[in-house]
Amino acid sequence: MKIEFKKVPQSPKSFSSEYHSVKIEGTFCKISPTLVKIDSTLAGNMDVTCCRCGEEESITLDEELNFLVSDGIYKSESDDLVIEVYDGIIDFDEIIESEISSEISDYHICEKCANIDLIEKEF
Ligand SMILES: [Zn+2]
Repeated sequence: MKIEFKKVPQSPKSFSSEYHSVKIEGTFCKISPTLVKIDSTLAGNMDVTCCRCGEEESITLDEELNFLVSDGIYKSESDDLVIEVYDGIIDFDEIIESEISSEISDYHICEKCANIDLIEKEF
């Protein structure tokens, strides 16, 4: 789903989109002329590869994903997650795809490797 930045309403509007088998659902609204706030949840199953051992496993996602979308470069010192768009179009599919790959699959550690970490810490 795509929406033009200038067409985003000031009152929250719901949306849903899907990337592979992960569903993103939530609301979006304009909070300033150049900022859109998105509150959403990611839900579904996805196959991810462990970044340690390369083993693939299926995980169930149920995560909140709240972020801002800025029309152009966003200048602020805050820690908020801000996604910058440069063509005036908010592409939800692209956002979910990049969020899933950067937040989850790039740093995924499988249970086995996580347990090894625990054991190493204990001794
Ligand atoms: Zn692993």
